[in-house]
Amino acid sequence: MKIRLASDIQTDSIVDGTGIRAVVWTQGCSHNCSGCHNPSTHDFNGGDEVDIEDVKERLSELEAQDGVTFSGGDPFFQPEACAELAKYIHGLGMNVWCYTGFLFEDLLKASNKKRAIREFLDNIDILVDGPFIISKKSYSAKFRGSTNQRIIDVKKSLEEGYVIEALQDEEEQDYNFGRYREKVFI
Ligand code: SF4
Repeated sequence: MKIRLASDIQTDSIVDGTGIRAVVWTQGCSHNCSGCHNPSTHDFNGGDEVDIEDVKERLSELEAQDGVTFSGGDPFFQPEACAELAKYIHGLGMNVWCYTGFLFEDLLKASNKKRAIREFLDNIDILVDGPFIISKKSYSAKFRGSTNQRIIDVKKSLEEGYVIEALQDEEEQDYNFGRYREKVFI
């Protein structure tokens, strides 16, 4: 199986989720958010198409990373390959974050027709969802570009049938994964 990537795997990121993280930059996105930080990742024919076995080998060589984050681009345009990689990352003992321009509820609906979307969701620990909205841009909202984006505990949300978000501690400006805001699925 192949995956189209925007660049090599990045390591030692502290801005793409908790801890020290590697980042898989996927290529391809059609959300066209105004003010997108990464327009070179939009072209579905851009970047490089690589074999996921080669990506797995690279992931297995990572050292001192707490987890791996899928970003882009939008990883949900390549759910089959990302699901397989996310499973492999869990097998290596690392957690998985993913950024997407889609809403969690819309991904769940789409997963009824496309099984790979559900398989990918089942292998994500934290999903940061929704488009970047420039009027809601915030420098203090850690791990997200605009305040409309939600930091969702995917496993808890799927178990409980609610969107369960982690709340940012206003004083420490950090996330406390023991506190959640809940919303009912539409
Ligand atoms: S979803 Fe992300 S990569 Fe895609 S246009 Fe929006 S900000 Fe850019």
